[in-house]
Amino acid sequence: MTQWKKSIYTGHVSDGVAEVADGRYPLVENRVQAEIMCHVRAMNRPVSRSEITEVLGVSRSKISLEVGRLIGAGLLAGDGLAKSEGGRRSSLLRIPRSAGLIAAVDLGATSTDVALSTLGGELLIHRGEPGDVKDGPQRVLGRVKELLSELLAEQGADARDVVAIGVGVPGPVEHASGVLRSPPIMPGWDGFPIRAAFADGYEAPVFVDNDVNVMALGEHRDGVGKGEDNVLFVKIGTGIGGGIIADGHLQRGSQGCAGDIGHICADPEGPVCSCGNRGCLEAMAAAPAIAAKAERCAKEGLSPILQGVFEERGVLTARDVGEAASRGDYHALQIIKESGRLVGQVLATLVSTLNPSIIVVGGGVANIGHSLLAEIRGAVYRRSLPLATRNLPIVPSELDQIAGVTGASVLAAEGVLQTS
Ligand SMILES: [Zn+2]
Repeated sequence: MTQWKKSIYTGHVSDGVAEVADGRYPLVENRVQAEIMCHVRAMNRPVSRSEITEVLGVSRSKISLEVGRLIGAGLLAGDGLAKSEGGRRSSLLRIPRSAGLIAAVDLGATSTDVALSTLGGELLIHRGEPGDVKDGPQRVLGRVKELLSELLAEQGADARDVVAIGVGVPGPVEHASGVLRSPPIMPGWDGFPIRAAFADGYEAPVFVDNDVNVMALGEHRDGVGKGEDNVLFVKIGTGIGGGIIADGHLQRGSQGCAGDIGHICADPEGPVCSCGNRGCLEAMAAAPAIAAKAERCAKEGLSPILQGVFEERGVLTARDVGEAASRGDYHALQIIKESGRLVGQVLATLVSTLNPSIIVVGGGVANIGHSLLAEIRGAVYRRSLPLATRNLPIVPSELDQIAGVTGASVLAAEGVLQTS
């Protein structure tokens, strides 16, 4: 906790604006200011004062007072006048780039993505590279900080311009503390204070959540889930996870574990999972399971294509299975279909529980071939109530590689604009 306090935000954007309250670091002074900023961010375009007054249902004089304060603090700026609607033309407002930058980090099991965006929500620059979370927090976060420094320099900015940092990690995060708890695929990260790791170099507050939750936030803000209030996002990669947006808000549950569908039991007699249980969805349908099944096929001589790749490289990946399937390999196609069927079975249960309006499928395995999505759709439609699936699109992610950093910047911006 003492280490954590080091990252207390000191309010360099405008003195007096950022107060430290109950361990939070809002840029804004009160709820009305927070709502104004969140509305302008959500609209992603210049917004008139009269629109803000109408949407927030607060008096014109109160809006005028708080907008004036936000402009004084550099968080809002004028952007000309709105079109005339008969009366006096209302002035337009936007969040200027000088209001600050958001640093977004998306750690996958085997990838590191970092990005900078404006507080207003514009993605400025993104960089991704292979990485391995098994290298441990010191090495991985050290590399993240190097990449962030490079991106800031390329934008002509420095660490003092960063007003918030959002981090997505591939493991269960205790929401209140932002700390990973017993992450199955992240040795060395259990209880590691990620927030404190940014304290040398950054004064900005750090917000941490699991990678699937941040991807769900990204799809909801800028992807195929935009404008939908009830989104179920599913990531299929090295692991499998779900992110739930209900009534427009990310659902974390009481400890932050909501949507952790990878460890729902798909077969009590199935293989042992990294969590120690048997037959988890993740152990049976994620990338390592797909690769393991393909290797068995290759060794048994069932698939000449997989056998050829295996003999050449000594290892097979889920991507190899996708390529073999696209070349007409029967066994590769069956492996993909089995994953789709298992994921779809679990999603059908969630559809009955949550009644989403759209299911978005992302992660590295999502691009393995059309048959995966087709099997998921088939299983969900077969096993759910017809009413729940009547208007339920099940679609691939649009943001793909940038879903995580887009969502991490949403997480950070919403966090820093929140009043306690
Ligand atoms: Zn498990």
